[in-house]
Amino acid sequence: MLDVVQIPVLNDNYVYLLGHEGTKTCAVVDPAVAEPVLAAAKERGWRITHILNTHWHGDHTGGNEAIKQATGCTIIGPRAEQAKIPAIDTAVGEGDVVTLPGGDFAHVLDVPGHTAGHIAYHFETQGLLFCGDTLFAMGCGRLFEGTAEQMWVSLHKLAHLPDNTEVYCAHEYTEANGRFALTVDPGNDMLVDRMDEVHRNRAQGFPTVPFLLGVDKATNPFLTAGTVEEFARRRAAKDVFKG
Ligand code: ZN
Ligand code: FE
Repeated sequence: MLDVVQIPVLNDNYVYLLGHEGTKTCAVVDPAVAEPVLAAAKERGWRITHILNTHWHGDHTGGNEAIKQATGCTIIGPRAEQAKIPAIDTAVGEGDVVTLPGGDFAHVLDVPGHTAGHIAYHFETQGLLFCGDTLFAMGCGRLFEGTAEQMWVSLHKLAHLPDNTEVYCAHEYTEANGRFALTVDPGNDMLVDRMDEVHRNRAQGFPTVPFLLGVDKATNPFLTAGTVEEFARRRAAKDVFKG
């Protein structure tokens, strides 16, 4: 049984604690910073045993060293980026399984595109996906190191997971993503309804993450693109979109 705690940090990042009450332990996904993460674990009486990094960017690994120093935890990150992951202990890639002290486990998926070695962690039993900066609510990560083709394949790998998968991405970009999505697909009733709900939630300061993969498959313009060329055009248009 995993208890997910969402910690908003910096401008729009989400760090996650994956807690296990039975063992009073937790793992941290993408710690941008250390202090609020250490505080949240302490508040719940959980010992941090692992950090799971999805990619090397500083807003996902900035807390690695301080958290490891404070807790002695094991840092797991993408094999293809291990030289860039601060204090990494264990490098993983597609097909590997990461098992936490309480017995909960995640399959590792290679999802390059935003960065060259980006990975995602899929807790199949619980239906939870931690996908860093690959898939966002109604959006996807910018192509900093990968090609449109790579990102297209990565997104479709994620889209093949069950529709009831809860997607925990690393940023609250939903409102801006949705504004772009509406320019692409203004006649999509599900998208219009979703954005109404997003505006209501954001106006009250509530997160819009996690979200259901099935809902995103019907409303995310990067998942509804029919071809890789269409995907690439939409990604390029989003890069310069001033919503
Ligand atoms: Zn990033
Ligand atoms: Fe990021």
